[in-house]
Amino acid sequence: MNKETNIPYKIYLSEDEIPRQWYNVRADMKNKPAPLLNPATLKPMTFDDLRPVFCDELIKQELDDTTPYIDIPDEVMDFYKMYRPSPLVRAYFLEKALGTPAKIYYKFEGNNTSGSHKLNSAIVQAYYAKKQGLKGVTTETGAGQWGTALSMASAYFGIDCKVYMVKVSYEQKPFRREVMRTYGASVTPSPSMETEIGRKINAEHPGTTGSLGCAISEAVEVATKTEGYRYVLGSVLNQVLLHQTVIGLEAKAALEKYGVTPDIIIGCAGGGSNLGGLISPFMGEKIRGEKDYRIIAVEPASCPSFTRGKFAYDFCDTGMVCPLAKMYTLGSNFIPSANHAGGLRYHGMSPILSQLYDDGLMEARSVEQTSVFEAAQQFARVEGILPAPESSHAIRAAIDEALKCKETGEEKTILFGLTGTGYFDMVAYQKFNDGVMMDYIPTDAELEKSFETLPKVNL
Ligand SMILES: *Cc1c(COP(=O)(O)O)cnc(C)c1O
Repeated sequence: MNKETNIPYKIYLSEDEIPRQWYNVRADMKNKPAPLLNPATLKPMTFDDLRPVFCDELIKQELDDTTPYIDIPDEVMDFYKMYRPSPLVRAYFLEKALGTPAKIYYKFEGNNTSGSHKLNSAIVQAYYAKKQGLKGVTTETGAGQWGTALSMASAYFGIDCKVYMVKVSYEQKPFRREVMRTYGASVTPSPSMETEIGRKINAEHPGTTGSLGCAISEAVEVATKTEGYRYVLGSVLNQVLLHQTVIGLEAKAALEKYGVTPDIIIGCAGGGSNLGGLISPFMGEKIRGEKDYRIIAVEPASCPSFTRGKFAYDFCDTGMVCPLAKMYTLGSNFIPSANHAGGLRYHGMSPILSQLYDDGLMEARSVEQTSVFEAAQQFARVEGILPAPESSHAIRAAIDEALKCKETGEEKTILFGLTGTGYFDMVAYQKFNDGVMMDYIPTDAELEKSFETLPKVNL
């Protein structure tokens, strides 16, 4: 407990205070996110269209725009208790270092072996696969956090897990790969020669080091062609954002215990799942006109889906086999520059967040990676936690907002999501520490070229 404020350094909830239901913000949205479209017919995807790819219960959640609260299964609650509730930390030391009157809180999701919030959804998806009697699941992973989370969840429920890992990460992050193998997953560098789409991509681009979009195409192909398997995804989809609302519900409950209301809520945005999960319960209040919050999405300047993308239907993967989603996108062909080290590389964005942003209910900003690592270093030195580069985008914006308060003297309360730890990102930290990290911002011409590949869908 801090004696001056009577607010603890860390606010922990008890196990019994973990929410028992997820909150579905779509139920309160006036403009619902646009439906996924079947790429062959351009008609909205139905339950039956999605069945070969996803588990039944997850499809129901994906398509449910009306039920506000959805029960968390008991088996998932049991697993959540292993590592939840996650702490809500008052960043007293950062406030002091900045000399700001702002009050800064962060919700830390890195307290589990996967090192990120991704376990919150991985365990749910593995549970429904098991319940449906499936043998296993397939997925892609880039940096490796999602693959790790899913291999942990699959091991817990005793199902098989096949991970297609972007080749460049497979080679650069051998330890991440070994964590997944320790949990029993098979890890294949993508593009591989095991799938039709992998062989095609390898033939067209010899020596390619892969991308998330390629790995998704491979994982979907294997799931749909292997008896008893389904594909699972770690972000972007409505169901994933739903599962991640456990973050926001816990954060809100912890703040309310001490009568604290945030003015500004900040999160990093890759596919949008942690940000969506953190803000959902607050956004619900905002939409219903009960409260007002400033909500800020932070993305890399090298992959600026919100701030420079187009709100349009696009493919979720490079192989163009997945449904079309209406989202802020840079085009499914967009691949961030090779020197981009800080995660959040996906070309698109959650359709829910895309709609909320388009409706003016939240803001977005992009930040350059050297300034992100400066924020990460400053945070690590005073708050102790070595943050993931992804999470450090949110730290950057939180520090910037706190410094604005220092100028104006306003005592704003800032809440941000600290999604994970950065132990597997030391190559990026090394570049930063050696002073050789570069910033890269795509030119308008490059983006225009990528937009040309957007599917021509007229609605
Ligand atoms: C995957 C990941 C992200 C970004 O994904 P979202 O779906 O946008 O939340 C952010 N931080 C960490 C640590 C991650 O692993």
